[in-house]
Amino acid sequence: MGKTALLSVEDALAAIITMLPPTGTAALPLGDALGYTLAEDLVASLTLPPQAVSAMDGYAVRGEDISTLPCQLTRIAVSAAGHPWSGAINSGEAVRVFTGAAIPDGADTIVIQEDVDPVAEQNGVEITVRSAEPAGRYIRPAGLDVIKGQVILCAGTLLSARAIGLATAAGLTEALVSLRPRIGVLSTGDELVEPGTIPGAGQIISSNASFLKAFVGACGAESIDLGIARDKPGAMVSAVQNAKNLDLVVTTGGASIGIHDHIASDLDNSEGSKLNFWKIAMRPGKPLISGAVDGIPLIGLPGNPVSTAVCALVFLRPAIAHMTGDRRTGPRPVDSVFTVPLGADLDANDHRQDYIRACLKDNANGQIVFPAPRQDSSMLSVLASSNALIVRPPHDPAKNAGDMVNVLQIPALL
Ligand code: AMP
Ligand code: MG
Repeated sequence: MGKTALLSVEDALAAIITMLPPTGTAALPLGDALGYTLAEDLVASLTLPPQAVSAMDGYAVRGEDISTLPCQLTRIAVSAAGHPWSGAINSGEAVRVFTGAAIPDGADTIVIQEDVDPVAEQNGVEITVRSAEPAGRYIRPAGLDVIKGQVILCAGTLLSARAIGLATAAGLTEALVSLRPRIGVLSTGDELVEPGTIPGAGQIISSNASFLKAFVGACGAESIDLGIARDKPGAMVSAVQNAKNLDLVVTTGGASIGIHDHIASDLDNSEGSKLNFWKIAMRPGKPLISGAVDGIPLIGLPGNPVSTAVCALVFLRPAIAHMTGDRRTGPRPVDSVFTVPLGADLDANDHRQDYIRACLKDNANGQIVFPAPRQDSSMLSVLASSNALIVRPPHDPAKNAGDMVNVLQIPALL
């Protein structure tokens, strides 16, 4: 492959993924595991519920005793959550039960309290059952939710609050997870000053590193700020070589062909560094670079903040998911696109895959996507108010409002 050939987005992503090894693993307490990816299947050590329990407040009875309604039964005992009753029900008897209570032996039916007239709330009284649902209706059988020994969460699952709740209920206290990849973030540019500084003439605040720190954290990785490298040959390589234990380096800026852009040439010319590819057929983000410094994989993102963000969504997010073994399935995996009707006309696309900042809105028929009127790749305000990217393949013909387009949703935290 010639280094100046324009790679497709798909080929570029595949090439980036191939050079990224999975991270190591560690056992973590479930309470600390939110956002980590499971490195092995989680197996239930308990059955849930452990025995048949009532789903309602009411009375446990024998179904054959209430075949003709109304009828009278004698309340003989109480079974409540945490206070099981260990006896058995005989003909003509009922046991008062509450939600979560163990079903007494001999009972096969729950009559809800709304369908019963009790003489009083005490044992020994007569109750009148006026109506009833079929046997089993309000009984949660043992193992309804989980059976001991069953795989409850598969390797590759991102641990959500819900998953942590499930694993805890099933008797587990820790999980083997993939470690967070350590990602070095290096900004490059003579014009950049650190956030919190008042920019002087010709200077701007480096916002890309703050963006990437937040982005990388939200994707389940750890960011290491490598600071700002100036626009001179070798500066990027030195900054990376000074960092420790990185799984991946992400640079921003210096990726074009100007005389102040040194990332690609540094990778090509420095001993121990390697340039895999440079320039891909996408907009924004044409000057995307892949390489390595002393064996540490490197993704060089373009400097324009919107290009940085779009390339992070398209390449960095799946790269992190790959390193952590995140095999999330479901309706919206990490980089999935779906089709939505367009809210405005679009001109024909050129040879580059286009990522158009857009707003996805609900309407009476489902969803509709509106392209933002300004698409300049320096405009963070447009990006921050967008919640989706319209993804247009190379040479996509002109589209009219109402035509279907591919959309990549921007997750709320990214
Ligand atoms: P470059 O890729 O270095 O030519 O940068 C392209 C544009 O992005 C220029 O206008 C830069 O000033 C801007 N830029 C580069 N790095 C950053 C950064 N860290 N934060 C904000 N803007 C940046
Ligand atoms: Mg620059």
